[in-house]
Amino acid sequence: MAEIEQNVPLSPEVESAFREAYEIGRAVTRTGRVADYIPELAKADRRNFGVALLDGQGHSLSLGDADTRFSIQSVSKVIILALSLKIKGHRETFSNVMMEPSGDAFDSILKLDTRSNRPFNPLINAGAIQLVSTMEEELGFEEIADFARALCMDPDICLDEAVYRSEFESGNRNRAIAYLLKSKGVLQGDPERTADLYFKLCSLSVTAKSLAALGLVLSNGGLNPFTGEQLIAREHVRTIKSLMFTCGLYDYSGKFGVKVGVPAKSGVGGGLVCAPRGAMGIGLYGPALDEYGNSVAAVRAMEHLSNRLGLHTFDI
Ligand code: GLN
Repeated sequence: MAEIEQNVPLSPEVESAFREAYEIGRAVTRTGRVADYIPELAKADRRNFGVALLDGQGHSLSLGDADTRFSIQSVSKVIILALSLKIKGHRETFSNVMMEPSGDAFDSILKLDTRSNRPFNPLINAGAIQLVSTMEEELGFEEIADFARALCMDPDICLDEAVYRSEFESGNRNRAIAYLLKSKGVLQGDPERTADLYFKLCSLSVTAKSLAALGLVLSNGGLNPFTGEQLIAREHVRTIKSLMFTCGLYDYSGKFGVKVGVPAKSGVGGGLVCAPRGAMGIGLYGPALDEYGNSVAAVRAMEHLSNRLGLHTFDI
């Protein structure tokens, strides 16, 4: 039986909505499959599920496997985008990456070759790889990891060496994307070095609690409410959350937008970060994935939470 641990008391309504969502999510874990195209990810226990909430007053709640470490995978694309906006600015960040949902799988190469030289958005592999290539001129892995630690309020974030090795050995599609971008003259640096840094950033180890903190910073306009530090400029947060809303769950983003209506980003490690309105972050972890590569349990739990707590961005 998973442990339920509660910290500062929440309102009974919010607490019971979370408990229900946790049970609903947990019940569907068996319907998903863990990612196995990166062999190390196949070792995850598909029954795992954890939910964490953190709000601006310091209320927190965590249910189930909220302290289990897993690789951040595509959720790192939010951090990469935030950092690119910070060091390169909006114009340069979007000079070689667009802002459109691709309607394709996260690692698709098809439209990139046939329809556009620029990746469709920064939250799919091609877009993140492009941003990493320009960032790499200025920053190394440790500096980017420090930014991730600050955003997630988690000093223990580090590289999961086994996942990194596994990504490095099996990441030929991502290398192909980097080389394709290079062949089009879009990627400026060395495709191998860029792919290597991208693999490392996907292999940062986080927990559902770290993702709740990241969600809170985004929900709170980029400000860490506990330290007063403005980690991401407000106007950049607007851009990031808009892209999370439209592109954060790969080719399930439209349906998630309708059903849940919250800026969110998933990763094939099973993570999901959500940044609803009202200075609140929700982090979820469930490695059993659906056909799109999103956590089945996390998506179901968020559907419930959104309905019960009125989290949808367009509910009045
Ligand atoms: N490292 C993974 C990949 O590039 C990240 C993809 C994901 O989480 N969707 O294939």
